[in-house]
Amino acid sequence: MARRFYRQCVKCGKIHDVNKHIRNCDCSPEGLLPFYYPEVNWDNYPDPRYGDSVWRFHEILPLFNMENAIELGIKKFPLIRCQIIAEEFGLSEVYVKLDSMQPTETFKDREAFMTLSRLKEMGYKELVGASTGDSGISHCRGAAISKMVLHMFVPNNARQRWEELYSRMIASDGSYDYSFVQIHYSGTTFDEAIANAYAFANKMGLPLEYWFYNQMRIEGMKTLCLEVLEDLGRIPDWYVQGLGSGTGIFSFWKGCMEVFNKSPNLGGIQPAGCAPMVLASRGLVEGTVGKRVVSNLDTYVIGIGIPKIFESYPHLCRIGVKFEDVFEGGKKTELKEFPRLLELFHADGIPRGKAGLESLAALAGVEKLAKKGMIRPDQTVVIGCTGRLRLDVPELQAEMEG
Ligand SMILES: [Zn+2]
Repeated sequence: MARRFYRQCVKCGKIHDVNKHIRNCDCSPEGLLPFYYPEVNWDNYPDPRYGDSVWRFHEILPLFNMENAIELGIKKFPLIRCQIIAEEFGLSEVYVKLDSMQPTETFKDREAFMTLSRLKEMGYKELVGASTGDSGISHCRGAAISKMVLHMFVPNNARQRWEELYSRMIASDGSYDYSFVQIHYSGTTFDEAIANAYAFANKMGLPLEYWFYNQMRIEGMKTLCLEVLEDLGRIPDWYVQGLGSGTGIFSFWKGCMEVFNKSPNLGGIQPAGCAPMVLASRGLVEGTVGKRVVSNLDTYVIGIGIPKIFESYPHLCRIGVKFEDVFEGGKKTELKEFPRLLELFHADGIPRGKAGLESLAALAGVEKLAKKGMIRPDQTVVIGCTGRLRLDVPELQAEMEG
């Protein structure tokens, strides 16, 4: 029997045609359109015919026909129990979900397999994306594997970093046909690149894929949560992650709700040198969603150091995310804290170079939440380790090379 799913607006309740590529409901910019699964066959979940593939969770993924399932080689790495970190922070059970071992070394591969599969099923052979790094790299590899044409818009202020990441990926994984990928260096800032990508997609009649409102991303990212639930057999008391647009945290919540109908506590961590969502949650900035609210970036954690409040913010509030900042004092504090946090990860078996700065922020966030008594000693904590270390901070060279 074919699976069924639909998309319904969280604001007005309207159900939309699931075969149209729509970012949000016409009722409101906040009209998020999540996927819902009304008739899940839990006896078939996870489906053993798919082995370790993320497709074993297909009962709660948005694909009608498994012939359209694209396989990007995403692997499951079991939760790592961190005894030393737990002891250091006065907690009993701390785990790391290590997703920096994925093909492009970040959890963004999980977004790409789902987005590409669903767009293929909807009849698209070509799509448009916009990115400055990890997510775009994952989608480019996915396009090369699935032989879908991808127009990737990259702003010129990220060109050097992009070229490094892109050439590194092709060098390590270049057996696929990257002629399907067309890179457009366009605009100076990311916002300009997105505007240009949007205009291009409209002109060509192609779907534009980026950020939180692409709910196919949320569904793909959800498989990280489903693996954690598979290992724990229950929801953790806390899931803590570095917070950019909130795709990871929102998808973790959604997975827990679908499988156990219960939400964990969610910790969204930003570096104090660039923490727009934390400021908003404290009432320090308001009415500025989508606009730049942090003018002087004082952080090395560029993976989540984004100077504006995303349109996702109201939805993160709705699901009860606890926003917290770390590294008060900016870059100077970060340089002092990074080595200690890296050592903690290493002591508990996280390989060198595999914990990125976003993961260090998440770890510092767990420490702070435990100190404040928000995480209780008896509670189970899962830390999302979402990507490898890849920033050129001279003080961390030894770590990068080791
Ligand atoms: Zn609506």
